[in-house]
Amino acid sequence: MIRHHPDNNMLLEYAAGSLPWALSLAVSAHLQLCPQCRQQRENLDNIGGALLGEGAPQTVGSEAFDQLMGRIDREDKQEIEAGEAPATPERAQRTVRNTDPILADLPKVIGKLVSSTGPLKWKRVSSALRTSRLKTGQDHYEVAFQRICRGGKVAEHDHRGREVTVVLYGSFSDSEGVYRRGDFLLREPGDVHRPIATQDQECLCLSVVEAPVKVTGPLGWLINPFLSFRPA
Ligand SMILES: [Zn+2]
Repeated sequence: MIRHHPDNNMLLEYAAGSLPWALSLAVSAHLQLCPQCRQQRENLDNIGGALLGEGAPQTVGSEAFDQLMGRIDREDKQEIEAGEAPATPERAQRTVRNTDPILADLPKVIGKLVSSTGPLKWKRVSSALRTSRLKTGQDHYEVAFQRICRGGKVAEHDHRGREVTVVLYGSFSDSEGVYRRGDFLLREPGDVHRPIATQDQECLCLSVVEAPVKVTGPLGWLINPFLSFRPA
Protein backbone atom coordinates (compact mmCIF):
# COMPACT_ATOMS: atom_id res chain seq x y z
CA MET A 1 0.00 0.00 0.00
CA ILE A 2 1.25 3.47 -0.92
CA ARG A 3 1.71 5.70 2.12
CA HIS A 4 3.69 8.64 0.80
CA HIS A 5 2.14 10.99 -1.75
CA PRO A 6 2.93 14.35 -3.36
CA ASP A 7 1.24 17.16 -1.43
CA ASN A 8 -1.74 19.09 -2.81
CA ASN A 9 0.40 22.05 -3.84
CA MET A 10 2.53 19.85 -6.02
CA LEU A 11 -0.51 18.09 -7.49
CA LEU A 12 -2.12 21.44 -8.20
CA GLU A 13 1.00 22.72 -9.96
CA TYR A 14 1.11 19.46 -11.90
CA ALA A 15 -2.54 19.80 -12.90
CA ALA A 16 -1.96 23.43 -13.91
CA GLY A 17 1.10 22.53 -15.98
CA SER A 18 3.35 24.86 -13.98
CA LEU A 19 5.44 22.23 -12.20
CA PRO A 20 8.95 21.87 -13.65
CA TRP A 21 8.76 18.91 -15.95
CA ALA A 22 11.37 16.77 -14.16
CA LEU A 23 9.17 16.90 -11.09
CA SER A 24 6.11 16.32 -13.30
CA LEU A 25 7.81 13.15 -14.45
CA ALA A 26 8.05 11.90 -10.86
CA VAL A 27 4.47 12.95 -10.10
CA SER A 28 3.25 11.26 -13.28
CA ALA A 29 5.04 8.01 -12.31
CA HIS A 30 3.42 8.16 -8.89
CA LEU A 31 -0.03 8.88 -10.34
CA GLN A 32 0.22 5.83 -12.48
CA LEU A 33 0.68 3.71 -9.37
CA CYS A 34 -1.68 5.59 -7.03
CA PRO A 35 -5.46 5.60 -7.63
CA GLN A 36 -5.97 7.93 -4.66
CA CYS A 37 -3.83 10.68 -6.17
CA ARG A 38 -5.34 10.14 -9.63
CA GLN A 39 -8.70 10.95 -8.12
CA GLN A 40 -7.27 13.93 -6.27
CA ARG A 41 -5.64 15.14 -9.46
CA GLU A 42 -8.98 14.96 -11.27
CA ASN A 43 -10.49 17.13 -8.56
CA LEU A 44 -7.61 19.60 -8.74
CA ASP A 45 -7.75 19.60 -12.52
CA ASN A 46 -11.23 21.00 -12.29
CA ILE A 47 -10.32 23.55 -9.62
CA GLY A 48 -7.11 24.53 -11.43
CA GLY A 49 -8.95 24.93 -14.71
CA ALA A 50 -11.52 27.16 -13.09
CA LEU A 51 -8.93 29.27 -11.23
CA LEU A 52 -6.34 29.69 -13.90
CA GLY A 53 -8.40 29.64 -17.06
CA GLU A 54 -6.83 29.64 -20.48
CA GLY A 55 -3.89 31.87 -19.61
CA ALA A 56 -2.23 29.51 -17.12
CA PRO A 57 1.52 30.18 -16.96
CA GLN A 58 3.73 27.57 -18.53
CA THR A 59 7.19 27.35 -17.03
CA VAL A 60 8.01 23.83 -18.14
CA GLY A 61 10.87 23.03 -20.45
CA SER A 62 10.97 21.62 -23.93
CA GLU A 63 7.94 21.65 -26.17
CA ALA A 64 8.57 18.06 -27.17
CA PHE A 65 8.39 16.90 -23.60
CA ASP A 66 5.23 18.89 -22.96
CA GLN A 67 3.64 17.13 -25.88
CA LEU A 68 4.81 13.76 -24.56
CA MET A 69 3.40 14.50 -21.13
CA GLY A 70 0.14 15.71 -22.64
CA ARG A 71 -0.21 12.58 -24.72
CA ILE A 72 0.51 10.30 -21.78
CA ASP A 73 -1.96 12.20 -19.63
CA ARG A 74 -4.66 11.81 -22.25
CA GLU A 75 -3.88 8.10 -22.60
CA ASP A 76 -3.95 7.69 -18.83
CA LYS A 77 -7.33 9.38 -18.66
CA GLN A 78 -8.69 7.18 -21.41
CA GLU A 79 -7.37 4.06 -19.69
CA ILE A 80 -8.78 5.08 -16.35
CA GLU A 81 -12.16 5.82 -17.94
CA ALA A 82 -12.12 2.55 -19.85
CA GLY A 83 -10.74 0.46 -16.97
CA GLU A 84 -8.01 -1.98 -17.98
CA ALA A 85 -7.68 -1.25 -21.66
CA PRO A 86 -6.68 -4.18 -23.87
CA ALA A 87 -3.22 -4.03 -25.41
CA THR A 88 -3.18 -2.56 -28.89
CA PRO A 89 -0.37 -3.11 -31.40
CA GLU A 90 0.64 0.51 -30.84
CA ARG A 91 0.78 0.03 -27.10
CA ALA A 92 2.67 -3.23 -27.44
CA GLN A 93 5.24 -1.42 -29.57
CA ARG A 94 5.74 1.19 -26.91
CA THR A 95 6.51 -1.39 -24.22
CA VAL A 96 10.11 -1.23 -23.12
CA ARG A 97 11.86 -4.35 -24.27
CA ASN A 98 14.10 -5.26 -21.41
CA THR A 99 15.01 -8.60 -19.95
CA ASP A 100 16.02 -7.04 -16.64
CA PRO A 101 13.08 -7.94 -14.32
CA ILE A 102 13.62 -4.83 -12.26
CA LEU A 103 12.72 -2.76 -15.35
CA ALA A 104 9.88 -4.97 -16.57
CA ASP A 105 6.98 -3.07 -15.04
CA LEU A 106 7.92 0.61 -15.14
CA PRO A 107 5.25 3.30 -15.12
CA LYS A 108 4.55 4.22 -18.72
CA VAL A 109 6.07 7.70 -18.59
CA ILE A 110 9.32 6.26 -17.26
CA GLY A 111 9.31 3.45 -19.80
CA LYS A 112 9.05 6.03 -22.57
CA LEU A 113 11.92 8.04 -21.18
CA VAL A 114 14.05 4.88 -20.94
CA SER A 115 13.15 4.02 -24.53
CA SER A 116 14.28 7.44 -25.68
CA THR A 117 17.46 7.26 -23.59
CA GLY A 118 18.63 3.99 -25.15
CA PRO A 119 20.42 1.17 -23.32
CA LEU A 120 20.99 2.07 -19.69
CA LYS A 121 24.53 2.47 -18.45
CA TRP A 122 24.87 1.57 -14.79
CA LYS A 123 27.55 3.30 -12.80
CA ARG A 124 28.72 1.62 -9.61
CA VAL A 125 28.62 4.14 -6.77
CA SER A 126 29.34 1.62 -4.01
CA SER A 127 28.98 -2.12 -3.41
CA ALA A 128 25.31 -1.49 -2.59
CA LEU A 129 24.34 1.19 -5.08
CA ARG A 130 24.34 1.60 -8.83
CA THR A 131 22.97 4.57 -10.66
CA SER A 132 21.96 5.28 -14.24
CA ARG A 133 21.32 8.76 -15.57
CA LEU A 134 18.32 9.30 -17.81
CA LYS A 135 18.94 11.77 -20.59
CA THR A 136 16.53 14.62 -20.42
CA GLY A 137 18.33 17.57 -21.98
CA GLN A 138 17.48 19.64 -18.91
CA ASP A 139 20.05 21.54 -16.86
CA HIS A 140 18.12 22.20 -13.71
CA TYR A 141 17.35 18.66 -12.65
CA GLU A 142 19.23 15.39 -12.63
CA VAL A 143 16.96 12.44 -13.36
CA ALA A 144 18.35 8.99 -12.58
CA PHE A 145 17.58 5.46 -11.50
CA GLN A 146 19.06 4.41 -8.18
CA ARG A 147 19.41 0.67 -7.78
CA ILE A 148 20.16 -0.77 -4.35
CA CYS A 149 21.14 -4.44 -4.03
CA ARG A 150 19.28 -6.79 -1.65
CA GLY A 151 19.84 -5.63 1.89
CA GLY A 152 22.23 -2.98 0.54
CA LYS A 153 23.07 -0.05 2.78
CA VAL A 154 23.63 3.28 1.08
CA ALA A 155 26.12 5.58 2.79
CA GLU A 156 24.57 8.29 4.89
CA HIS A 157 24.16 11.38 2.79
CA ASP A 158 22.49 14.74 2.80
CA HIS A 159 20.73 16.60 0.03
CA ARG A 160 22.11 19.68 -1.60
CA GLY A 161 18.96 20.47 -3.52
CA ARG A 162 15.38 19.25 -3.27
CA GLU A 163 15.17 15.61 -4.21
CA VAL A 164 12.11 13.58 -5.14
CA THR A 165 12.31 9.80 -4.95
CA VAL A 166 9.68 7.41 -6.32
CA VAL A 167 10.05 3.73 -5.44
CA LEU A 168 9.51 1.69 -8.61
CA TYR A 169 10.52 -1.81 -7.51
CA GLY A 170 11.16 -3.51 -4.17
CA SER A 171 11.39 -1.42 -1.04
CA PHE A 172 13.81 0.34 1.24
CA SER A 173 13.78 1.77 4.72
CA ASP A 174 15.50 4.53 6.66
CA SER A 175 15.21 5.79 10.21
CA GLU A 176 11.78 7.25 9.40
CA GLY A 177 10.02 4.30 7.85
CA VAL A 178 9.64 1.76 5.07
CA TYR A 179 9.00 2.84 1.46
CA ARG A 180 7.40 0.59 -1.12
CA ARG A 181 6.54 0.67 -4.81
CA GLY A 182 4.72 3.87 -5.62
CA ASP A 183 5.81 5.79 -2.53
CA PHE A 184 6.73 9.40 -3.32
CA LEU A 185 9.28 11.13 -1.09
CA LEU A 186 10.39 14.75 -1.08
CA ARG A 187 13.67 15.52 0.65
CA GLU A 188 14.65 19.07 1.42
CA PRO A 189 18.23 20.37 1.31
CA GLY A 190 20.01 19.36 4.48
CA ASP A 191 17.91 16.25 5.15
CA VAL A 192 20.22 13.41 6.10
CA HIS A 193 19.27 9.79 5.67
CA ARG A 194 20.63 6.32 5.13
CA PRO A 195 18.47 4.06 2.94
CA ILE A 196 18.66 0.29 3.33
CA ALA A 197 17.02 -2.05 0.80
CA THR A 198 14.97 -4.94 2.16
CA GLN A 199 16.64 -8.35 2.25
CA ASP A 200 14.35 -10.20 -0.15
CA GLN A 201 14.89 -8.20 -3.34
CA GLU A 202 16.67 -5.37 -5.09
CA CYS A 203 15.21 -1.89 -4.95
CA LEU A 204 14.83 0.53 -7.87
CA CYS A 205 14.00 4.19 -7.37
CA LEU A 206 13.57 7.13 -9.68
CA SER A 207 15.33 10.18 -8.30
CA VAL A 208 14.88 13.75 -9.47
CA VAL A 209 17.43 16.11 -7.95
CA GLU A 210 17.30 19.86 -8.18
CA ALA A 211 20.59 21.45 -9.15
CA PRO A 212 22.33 23.14 -6.26
CA VAL A 213 23.50 26.70 -6.65
CA LYS A 214 26.59 26.56 -8.77
CA VAL A 215 29.67 27.78 -7.00
CA THR A 216 31.71 30.13 -9.12
CA GLY A 217 34.67 32.39 -8.50
CA PRO A 218 38.30 31.66 -7.65
CA LEU A 219 37.51 28.70 -5.39
CA GLY A 220 34.76 27.27 -7.57
CA TRP A 221 37.04 24.69 -9.12
CA LEU A 222 37.90 23.45 -5.66
CA ILE A 223 34.33 23.22 -4.40
CA ASN A 224 32.45 22.08 -7.49
CA PRO A 225 33.94 18.58 -7.56
CA PHE A 226 32.18 17.87 -4.29
CA LEU A 227 28.76 18.66 -5.66
CA SER A 228 27.01 15.51 -6.67
CA PHE A 229 25.00 17.13 -9.45
CA ARG A 230 26.27 17.13 -12.99
CA PRO A 231 23.90 18.33 -15.73
CA ALA A 232 23.20 15.80 -18.49
ZN1 LIG B 1 -0.63 9.10 -4.18
